Amino acid sequence: QNVSNEQVGEKSAAAFARAKEAMPGGVNSPVRAFRAVGGTPPFIARGNGAYLYDIDGRRYIDYLLSWGPLIAGHAHPLVVEAVTKQAQRGTSFGAPTEIETELAEEIKRAYPSMELVRMVNSGTEATMSALRLARGYTGRSRVVKFTGCYHGHADSFLIRAGSGVATFGLPDSPGVPSAMAELTLTVPYNDIDHLRMVFEQYGEEIAAVIIEPVAGNMGLVLPQGGFLQAVRELTRAYETVLIFDEVMTGFRVSYGGAQERFGIDPDLTTLGKVIGGGMPVGAYGGKREIMELVAPDGPIYQAGTLSGNPLAMAAGLATLKLLQTEGTYERLEAVAKRVSTGFVEAGMRAGFSVQAHAIGAMFGNFFAAEPIVDYESAKQANVQLYSAYFHEMLSRGIYFAPSQLEAGFVSLAHTDLQVDETLEAMDDVMQELRRR
Ligand code: PMP
Repeated sequence: QNVSNEQVGEKSAAAFARAKEAMPGGVNSPVRAFRAVGGTPPFIARGNGAYLYDIDGRRYIDYLLSWGPLIAGHAHPLVVEAVTKQAQRGTSFGAPTEIETELAEEIKRAYPSMELVRMVNSGTEATMSALRLARGYTGRSRVVKFTGCYHGHADSFLIRAGSGVATFGLPDSPGVPSAMAELTLTVPYNDIDHLRMVFEQYGEEIAAVIIEPVAGNMGLVLPQGGFLQAVRELTRAYETVLIFDEVMTGFRVSYGGAQERFGIDPDLTTLGKVIGGGMPVGAYGGKREIMELVAPDGPIYQAGTLSGNPLAMAAGLATLKLLQTEGTYERLEAVAKRVSTGFVEAGMRAGFSVQAHAIGAMFGNFFAAEPIVDYESAKQANVQLYSAYFHEMLSRGIYFAPSQLEAGFVSLAHTDLQVDETLEAMDDVMQELRRR
């Protein structure tokens, strides 16, 4: 079976060879190099709506959307206009601007648990800063994370993480001091008994529990009924800070994120991706009592030359405005559900074992026989089969995540016709794979 199935265009192949001489692996973020599925990534020239165009002139229906941020689709005219207008007034001032307050206020409205918000430049910065804050607030050092959850690449989180780390099978990364790694305790997702055991042993030392309330970095894995509530109760009992990492789920599983959808009140929340509308942004925020400890009001230091960048604020605000239309999330979820149901139906017709999840504007498709509830079960998914499927879909102009241990995304720009085309291609590819 030819897994890598090299079908990329000549220009992309040449561009990748050149890039590899200039950047590690030819990329600025590891997952872009397609290591999990093999082959060469197409180099992108531009995007428009739900479409991505590569430098060889090939067009793809994009279900990755820059790994989540582009919920309005590529180059939405209103987002482009907002960024352009802001650029004409200047791109960065290193001084306060009103547009930062506007975005912070909009986030506060949608996430009542976030009484104060601090903007940063990436999801990694948001989680890293939230953890420092939780440690400073509690005076404790340990942190609990869930296996297969990814919270960016700060030292404390590169422990049994998902996303690219999961794909590469790095248990943790060289360069993370063991003294640091020892402070991170890991628990299987959806396993409240395990979490309870960890608390019984270390409860008084645990500064924070950080969780993706819907996990999107081991494929899409849903929290089982009562799991998030139990995590909330346990953290409250031990006066541990509960951090909801909604970098991926924020404004994506619903406008108010997973915390609105599941009715949970976390102490701190991290955001990113959608709130920057495709520009580099992250944010963290939460209870006033905790957030007031952040500099300059409090002693816990955190700063950024480009934080609250006006271009990013403009793109984020324009994107959030587009999401405020009545029925937006019903429509997005219907599209995501069609893609995941279509995958299951096409897979079953061809006799493959398949699993799929969808919530809000996210979906996860797996070649697996057993239900996927945590990282262990997600890792059982068939890597060879997904690689072959991925490349066949790509060659038919459908761009999915280059690993089934990553979530899929839909946008306001995805039409029923594009989904029809996607489902037809799925059916075709599944039959083709069955014949091999
Ligand atoms: N947390 C979660 C849940 C994420 O999905 C990601 C990125 N995929 C991050 C944090 C890190 O964000 P960034 O890549 O912007 O640093």
